[in-house]
Amino acid sequence: MRHVAVIGSGPAGYYTAEACQKIFGDDVRVDIIDRLPVPYGLIRFGVAPDHQSIKAVAKRYETVALSGNVRFVGNVSVGRDVSIAELQSLYDAVVLATGAPNDRSLDVPGGALPGVVGSAAFVGWYNGHPDFAALNPPLHGPGAVIIGNGNVALDVTRILAKTRDEFAGSDIVGHALDALDHSGVKRITVLGRRGPHQIAMTPKELGELGHLQRATPVVEPADFPPLGDDALLEPGMRKSVTHLRDFIPMSATPKEIAVEFNFFAMPVAVEGEGRVERIIVERTRLDDQLRSIGTGERYVIPCGLVVACIGYQTPPIEGVPYEHGRGRFANTDGRILPGLYCVGWARRGPSGTIGTNRPDGYLIADHLAIDIGAGAAKQGREGLDALLTSRGVDVVNFRDWQKIEAAEVARARDGAPREKFVSLGDMMGARR
Ligand code: NAP
Repeated sequence: MRHVAVIGSGPAGYYTAEACQKIFGDDVRVDIIDRLPVPYGLIRFGVAPDHQSIKAVAKRYETVALSGNVRFVGNVSVGRDVSIAELQSLYDAVVLATGAPNDRSLDVPGGALPGVVGSAAFVGWYNGHPDFAALNPPLHGPGAVIIGNGNVALDVTRILAKTRDEFAGSDIVGHALDALDHSGVKRITVLGRRGPHQIAMTPKELGELGHLQRATPVVEPADFPPLGDDALLEPGMRKSVTHLRDFIPMSATPKEIAVEFNFFAMPVAVEGEGRVERIIVERTRLDDQLRSIGTGERYVIPCGLVVACIGYQTPPIEGVPYEHGRGRFANTDGRILPGLYCVGWARRGPSGTIGTNRPDGYLIADHLAIDIGAGAAKQGREGLDALLTSRGVDVVNFRDWQKIEAAEVARARDGAPREKFVSLGDMMGARR
């Protein structure tokens, strides 16, 4: 029997378990350990609440979770309740599927002023992550600045711009819905340090901005390269840029909220008396390798909120080799050390779609087939259970999670799929 511990119950974790099932059949036992009492990681806490169709992939993970050879071991924190070394002594392989939940910091003067928040915190707030439920971001407006030209910047912008009605059918948590309902934000500036041809926004997500009830995207035609240059782009990127160009005529008919795209615009400082009041931006140009270079020309955007959507990193774990520049574990195709692996964003860094994690999971399972043979008669789950019981850890299993889930569904607003519990106490209480 092969015993595998996967740390993290997001997409990378579940695809790894699914791959192990496919490859090893009944000759494997996989424990998916999560520090939270609820599974699915990025699906629950990262994917936007108004993108329910993307969240539907959780049903696939549920099928994996309900099979006899895979367990969810929730409310167990690696490092606090059990160490990596202990897991390695109990399992043939330990796979870190811890994602990249930490923000990359905005390294400019004033970047830590109150009112500057990272996207992990902001997204965690509206998605009900217990770590960020109390964030209470300043929404007094009228200005808010979003830094970054990726899909997370688009998510944050859209959430700030939507009306209460537009959240119908979403699972945005009540505290965020109410706060956004009273928001005074009227101008959302999206800063890209490079140009329209260098965005990291996908077409569907960018297109949504053109169909909001009370917000209009505003772009500056002079920022665009000649139309003919779009033909050089790969098709997805060309579609995204076409959406941006479609925003040009919309810019002339503003609605209540303006979503202003500032390209070639790099944040250089955040200022204010004890909290954010303005951001200083430097205009940029591109060098011959398409990197942004400051031109020295600066301007000021008044704002009460800055959300830095500039990428994520994996939290380091003591004793596990880490690549600081890239914010992920040091690894060769997912292998870190003998018996220790990483997968998904913890392996690659924060890029790609949810589906990208599927081949990642299979890659790791293929490695395991070579590296651990038929297993080394380790204790596996029995050993872990004994250890956690001896330490008084209150483990949440998948049936417990299903009770929490049923309670969340039962208390949903009209038309919403669920109203998430946002505190660990409420989650733990709901399973009883
Ligand atoms: P991302 O796609 O890597 O975008 C990060 C953005 O931040 C880039 O525009 C980057 O500009 C900019 N940036 C980085 N450092 C900066 C700095 N110091 N100052 C100013 N700008 C800076 O990351 P993400 O938006 O966090 O998304 C992560 C992954 O999740 C992506 O693969 C994304 O597609 C995916 N995602 C998908 C969806 C969806 O499909 N619906 C939703 C959310 C996220 P440069 O290009 O100049 O470096």
